[in-house]
Amino acid sequence: MFYAEDKRATLCISCQVGCALNCSFCATGKLGLVRSLSRAEVVEQVRFALLETSRRGILLKSVVFTGEGEPTNNLQAVLDSAAIISDPQLFAISARNITISTAGNAPVIKKMALNPLQFRLAVSLRARAPDNRLRNQLLMPINGIWNVDAVLDTAFDYHSRISVEYALMRDINDTQEHAFLLARSLNTRASWAHVNLIPLNEIEDSDYKSSTANNTALFQNILKKRGIFTTLRSSKGQLIDGGCGQQLAAKVRDGDEHVQ
Ligand code: SF4
Repeated sequence: MFYAEDKRATLCISCQVGCALNCSFCATGKLGLVRSLSRAEVVEQVRFALLETSRRGILLKSVVFTGEGEPTNNLQAVLDSAAIISDPQLFAISARNITISTAGNAPVIKKMALNPLQFRLAVSLRARAPDNRLRNQLLMPINGIWNVDAVLDTAFDYHSRISVEYALMRDINDTQEHAFLLARSLNTRASWAHVNLIPLNEIEDSDYKSSTANNTALFQNILKKRGIFTTLRSSKGQLIDGGCGQQLAAKVRDGDEHVQ
């Protein structure tokens, strides 16, 4: 599915059916891993979207691996398909407009750095609050293996400019203290990060709730005052049962047109 604004669209694609990472707030995580997609299946999502966008007079400008699945768990197919998508003779979407989003597998991010094509990297901190106490609640079990500092260090080794995706959950990771900790965590590294703040996409039978507007605004202001670029996303994903329950919603922006 893609999201279009001013006749330019961002396409969100999946690399797996389901996901093995089992994040406790995520609808896809509850499925478990069904299977990984082949590179042809990944590319097919782009081919189909290109047909649809050109039919509607929309330019497909960027592609984000933020649908179902964890890209580092299907890395070869992700890199192969991204190479095809960026090939000027084929889909011709610039590598700098292709973003691979990971929940944070540090060794695999290191492997990505060896790839000749450097795609953009987005690190999903989401439910990972930036303090150890909360991290250890294992909202994202992978967090127990590679902590936030390890993931950020590896991500900044990969590239000096990254995106950080942070899902705001009410009374879980949306307090001012968490904002201060996140800001410090980013500012202690001599690099550049753009933080996408994402209201949680609430799923059925889950205790996790989206942050309030007031808490979200306070959180964002703290980051901004510390010189961190932020964008507040709006979450329309719940209207469409978007794949990951989080990741698809991350790319739906205020005022964007959602097209299926
Ligand atoms: S949030 Fe992302 S990494 Fe976690 S279970 Fe869902 S799809 Fe997988």
